[in-house]
Amino acid sequence: MERSTIVRVHEGLHARPATRFVKLAKSFESDVEIRKGGKAVSAKSSVKLMLLGVKEGDEVTVSAEGADAAEAVEALVAYLKNPLSGTEEGAEPAATDIVPMDTAIPSQAADGPPAGAFQAVGASEGMALGPVFAHFPARIEPEQKTLSADQIPAEKRRFAKAVAAVEAGLDASLAAGDVPASDRGIIQALRDIVGDDELKAATERSIDGGLDAISAVIAASSGIADDFRQLNDAYLKARAEDVESVARQICLALLGEEEARLDDIADGAVLLAEDIGAWDLARAPLKRIGGIVCGHGGATSHVAIIARTHGIPAVLGAGDKVHDWRQARQIGIDGRKGLVFPDPDAEIRRKLEAGIAEADRERAALRSYRDVEPRRPDGTLIHIAANLGSLDEIDAAKAAGAMGVGLFRTELLFMRHMHLPSEDMQAETYGTLAAAFAPYPVIVRTLDIGGDKPIAGIEFPEEDNPFLGWRGIRMCLDRPDIFKTQLRALLRASVNGNLKVMLPMVSDVGEVRRTRSLIAECRKELTAEGAAHGDFALGIMIETPAAVFAADELAAEVAFFSVGTNDLTQYVMAADRLNPSVSALNDASHPAVMAAIGQAARAAERAGIEIGMCGEAAARADLVPRFLEMGLTELSMSPASILAVKKQVSGIVEKAAAP
Ligand code: PEP
Ligand code: MG
Repeated sequence: MERSTIVRVHEGLHARPATRFVKLAKSFESDVEIRKGGKAVSAKSSVKLMLLGVKEGDEVTVSAEGADAAEAVEALVAYLKNPLSGTEEGAEPAATDIVPMDTAIPSQAADGPPAGAFQAVGASEGMALGPVFAHFPARIEPEQKTLSADQIPAEKRRFAKAVAAVEAGLDASLAAGDVPASDRGIIQALRDIVGDDELKAATERSIDGGLDAISAVIAASSGIADDFRQLNDAYLKARAEDVESVARQICLALLGEEEARLDDIADGAVLLAEDIGAWDLARAPLKRIGGIVCGHGGATSHVAIIARTHGIPAVLGAGDKVHDWRQARQIGIDGRKGLVFPDPDAEIRRKLEAGIAEADRERAALRSYRDVEPRRPDGTLIHIAANLGSLDEIDAAKAAGAMGVGLFRTELLFMRHMHLPSEDMQAETYGTLAAAFAPYPVIVRTLDIGGDKPIAGIEFPEEDNPFLGWRGIRMCLDRPDIFKTQLRALLRASVNGNLKVMLPMVSDVGEVRRTRSLIAECRKELTAEGAAHGDFALGIMIETPAAVFAADELAAEVAFFSVGTNDLTQYVMAADRLNPSVSALNDASHPAVMAAIGQAARAAERAGIEIGMCGEAAARADLVPRFLEMGLTELSMSPASILAVKKQVSGIVEKAAAP
């Protein structure tokens, strides 16, 4: 079974679109191949797929053999035909598509480097000046041992164990709750390479030929890395470094050694290295790093991406020069122009310091919105609030000037533990959260969990369509034992007066009424027990088409609406939010979704209740003006977006107030 098609995926199959394509291919039992220009590779290997270098506009043939061959070919061809495959509207950007290359990658100095400067590749904007922290871990040399035939099986086992150890380390990093989404994307890319058959098979072939594991890993990885370097694409060329970095990790595991850590870097120091593994950098104390200079790498290296994400100026690709600078006392860098100033003179230091001060002023200008409270000309406050999943995020939200919490997802509390969280534990969590943001409102959403995300202590049925199944308020109403524990905890935490409660997945007014009677029961019980408690405003999420069409009826029963555009979009457009093949339809700016939001907003206005938004679209600069026009008075988002949206909303309301 095979089919040819022209690839329409924007910018072709690299980075995230390639990873997604492989994931889709792996979901089928059949062996699947993709062929371009006479060369065929397995569609289940990221490395092979990326090496095929499939670009937008290329003609390829997808072929499959096996029980589900027809379905596999159909799904993969549909994926290739969709320009937006691999992008996820509304989701946090992947590491590899954080910033458009043309604007984000700093350029080189136009007319040669100034005196005292060395020209390399500008990889992350900004200027830095600081003491040198030289990081030059020893190179791992191939041992070039020749194995006897009886040593080969044990050497292969040793190699498999080392691969498993590196995989486990990366998996642990991926599972850690505190890794930013962008860094997670990079770690995932490395994890794909470690787990890829190509590197493993090439290494095993060399061991079978009698080479020791370390030499075999180095030989296999440099072969693959060279293949990447031959490709005519900046992003793919840079993947050579990922392959080498993964190979180094495997070699270290074979040697039983740890990579030299960056933990001791002094505050504001410039990290100087021949190369830094993306994984090592992601684990380093990034807040302390003033700048980065590397011999290897370019603007699309993962080191560059991490540096940009964390606002660390970086100049890469400086070549062997880095060895000359190891003895320098100070290094200055201009990450926009790609300039390195080893031991700069007083004049250059003065210029760099002026540049650093200017950048600080720009950052401060955005920070100056921290305490701004945008207000419409009629005096109504527009709350720019935070979406949170745990108490660990409170500080970041407050530092960004969050005007309360528009969505506290309680799922994490339930998912983190091996058992259901107790009433006391929940009451304490909700109470701490409310107190942290008082007097701003804090909206806690009751448990929104479905059959696709099982949690300990709740047995979910097998469902063909979990998103249309037993999730959110539906599950809670069927399990009053769980729901009442949460409602009692919320009443107890309401003594502060700023707590609000919101129900997810509402599609019928009966669900609100049944919740109200459970709340009344809980209140009665708490009073009888003499337990301190308060009261909360009850609202609902608008995330089903039913809630939009019944918005007038629902508005009569609740205190507020909050639009969940992530689900509302998938249900209005009938396009699974997790399925990349339909991601083009998953767009909150589609006229159908915007009409639904407008309809809910008009119902809220007629009933005189507030309406806000906590779906990802709340931070979309292109849509914010329209949401304000519709009358939304709260936009809730991840803390990282708050300052920019505060600035935008302040500009809009000021303009509206101008005579
Ligand atoms: C939404 O659906 O827009 C929303 C905020 O809820 P979640 O993403 O948690 O489903
Ligand atoms: Mg939702």
